[in-house]
Amino acid sequence: MNINVLTLFPEMFTPLQVSLLGRGQEDGKWKLNLVNFRDFSDRPHKSVDDTPYGGGAGMVLQVMPIKKALDSLENKGKVIITAPQGKTFNEQMAQEWSKEENLTFICGHFEGFDQRVYDLADETVSIGDYVLTGGELPTMSMIDATVRLLPGILGNALSPVEESFSDGLLEYPQYTRPADFEGQKVPDVLLSGNHGKIDEWRHYQALKATKEHRPDLLEKRDLTPEEVRMLRRIREDEQAEKD
Ligand code: SAH
Repeated sequence: MNINVLTLFPEMFTPLQVSLLGRGQEDGKWKLNLVNFRDFSDRPHKSVDDTPYGGGAGMVLQVMPIKKALDSLENKGKVIITAPQGKTFNEQMAQEWSKEENLTFICGHFEGFDQRVYDLADETVSIGDYVLTGGELPTMSMIDATVRLLPGILGNALSPVEESFSDGLLEYPQYTRPADFEGQKVPDVLLSGNHGKIDEWRHYQALKATKEHRPDLLEKRDLTPEEVRMLRRIREDEQAEKD
C-alpha cells in the first residue's frame, strides 16, 4: 500500500517509522510518501495561507498549492481531508481503506482550508469532536489504524480479528501471569484449558463490556439468539449482584 500525505510539517511523521509500522515499511508492506505542499507555492516566501475574505481571525490555507501538490502525485487513490466537521473515523473505515492500493491524506493547519479544497477530496474525516492545531496527528492515527490491518504487519495474523470494534463489540478482558496479583485472581475458566468454555466466557464478557461502555454499539447490532440469551444472563447477573 502506498500512502501520500500532504503536510506543511513532514518532520512530524517520525512515529510511523517506529515499531510495527516502521518494520512494515522496511519490509516493503507499505510506503509513506510525505509531500510538503509549501513546495508548490508560487508566492514570495513560499506562503500557502492568506487572510480570510470577509474578515476574521486566523489564516486560511489556499487551494492552489494543494491542487498542484495533488496533481504531482503518481497515484492518488482515495483522497481524504482531515477536518473537525468531517464524518467521524472508525474501525470500519480503517477496514475499507486497508483494501486500497493508494491513499492520500491532506493535513490542514491554522484556521483550516479554503472551502474549495474540499472539492479536491473524496472524503472529509474527523477523529472526534475536538479541535487540534493540525491534521498531522489525526492523519497518523488513521494511518496507524489502517496499516496495522494489512497482512503481515502485526506479528500474529489472527490478532486483528478478535479486537474491539472488529466485530462490532468491545474486546473481552485479557490476563497474563501471574494468576494471582495481590489477591486479584484470573478467572478460573481461563486456566481450565476448556476452549469451548473459554470462547463462551469471552463472548459473554465482550457483550458485557459493550453493554456497559458502549450500549450504542449493541443497539446497532443484529444479535444472534445466543447473544440474546447471554444478554438476559448478564442482566440477571447484574440484578443478582445488586440484591
Ligand atoms: N477552524 C477549523 C479548525 C481548524 S484546525 C474549524 O473550526 O473547524 C486546523 C486543522 O487541524 C484542520 O484543518 C484539520 O486538518 C486539523 N484538525 C483539527 N481537528 C481535527 C479533528 N478533530 N479531526 C481531524 N482533523 C482535525
